[in-house]
Amino acid sequence: MSAAFQLQDNREQIYSRLTSESMITANHEWLACMLASWCAGQGVLPDCLGLETGQFNALKEHFFPGCRLPEQAASGNKLDFNRMLERDDLVNLLKQFSKPGILETDWIIGVIVAGCLGSDHLWQDLGLWSRSQLSAMLQYNFPELAAKNDKDMKWKKFLYKQLCEAEGLYLCRAPSCSVCIDYPKCYGSEE
Ligand code: SF4
Repeated sequence: MSAAFQLQDNREQIYSRLTSESMITANHEWLACMLASWCAGQGVLPDCLGLETGQFNALKEHFFPGCRLPEQAASGNKLDFNRMLERDDLVNLLKQFSKPGILETDWIIGVIVAGCLGSDHLWQDLGLWSRSQLSAMLQYNFPELAAKNDKDMKWKKFLYKQLCEAEGLYLCRAPSCSVCIDYPKCYGSEE
């Protein structure tokens, strides 16, 4: 029987329906958390979680085949990818460090990149339920990239810093993080 979602459902109710019919793998769990938040109007992800419609339908069919999920974001958020000049660079960075042989990698990458257009912490923009979930998702899917964040930098800052360094751009105003007045913006609490 398919599970429909009502506007009044809260995140936890939606999550339990999304995960009731099958075994849960790691990525399935994180996707269910993000979808539940998205259906409840939380986070910044736009229609189809920021994926192409075909990708979104494939994701739904693979992980949530018994669930009738909308394509429109309950939040009404519309992200303008035209103002995201770094979109391809972010996709390429994540692809470069992704583990081979995981079907959902492109979907996870697309969702993460859409979340980077938000203005809160990345885990909040994605609709994950804690920063530790985001850390675990990045460590699972992009282990070598995540391992480079050995000073526990805020994740969005960390991803953008990788792009700057790859381009040979050093936009930071200090020679090292330890003497930088912007340290709290890049590190500090992300909860
Ligand atoms: S703390 Fe300062 S030097 Fe380090 S990444 Fe942030 S802006 Fe750059």
